[in-house]
Amino acid sequence: MGASAPFFMIAPPTDRFAELRAPAQWQAVDFMSDLHLQASDPTTFACWQLFLQRPPAERADALFILGDLFEVWVGDDVLTSSPVDAEPAFWGHCAALLHAHSQHTPVYFMAGNRDFLLGPDGLRACGMQALADPTVLDFQGQRWLLSHGDALCLDDTDYMRFRAQVRTPEWQSAFLAQPLVERQAMARGLRQQSEARKRSSAHDPSLWADVDTDAARQWLQHAGVQTLIHGHTHRPARHDLGDGLQRVVLTDWDASAEPPRAEVLRLTAAGLQRRPLKTA
Ligand code: MN
Repeated sequence: MGASAPFFMIAPPTDRFAELRAPAQWQAVDFMSDLHLQASDPTTFACWQLFLQRPPAERADALFILGDLFEVWVGDDVLTSSPVDAEPAFWGHCAALLHAHSQHTPVYFMAGNRDFLLGPDGLRACGMQALADPTVLDFQGQRWLLSHGDALCLDDTDYMRFRAQVRTPEWQSAFLAQPLVERQAMARGLRQQSEARKRSSAHDPSLWADVDTDAARQWLQHAGVQTLIHGHTHRPARHDLGDGLQRVVLTDWDASAEPPRAEVLRLTAAGLQRRPLKTA
């Protein structure tokens, strides 16, 4: 192992991955991730709202959100606290739209690195069912491995260290015990840091850590699955991983980018298809 070996080697999985068997009557499933919904981006929100409220003929039988639906989630109490600014009202609006959608189409949610603090109360308010990361989806006799993707970006050692810390129940209960205004202030600080990084010359998505090929292959072989579907990296593509294995990467959403980015990946008996969404 050279000096470039990742600090965090992923332990070969030993437990069985979570599995979800799609009901036999499902004909189509939509995947999306990395919408990063926030009050300061009404264009992307409007695009997503248009998607949720599309006519029945255009709907799939289930919606799978594979993480980073929300730009940030500092605790489920954002939904019940008395609004001191526009933000809590925005989260409540998102929850109401999702809940309405869940009345006709089941919505599954896997946590991302931005919204992993969405808890049981938040899930209930949104009408969403939680999915473990990763989860094997058994759809019409074919198996697909679903993940947000951040757990496989092993080269981002700073983030892997941060992730190991914030995913512990101890860190989460200590964080959630702080007053909401303090949690919101911390989230604003983190966001400003990340915006500053994006503006700096070092910002180049092609330099960001990507999913580790060996780790992805290990997961797929452990699950007995050929295709991994994930988000997080904001680099939509299909990658051949050898031995018939592949990973398919979802796009992030930014409806005001040029060209706009917003699409779902639809799974049917015919396979996977990217479906760009209306953004205006
Ligand atoms: Mn992410």
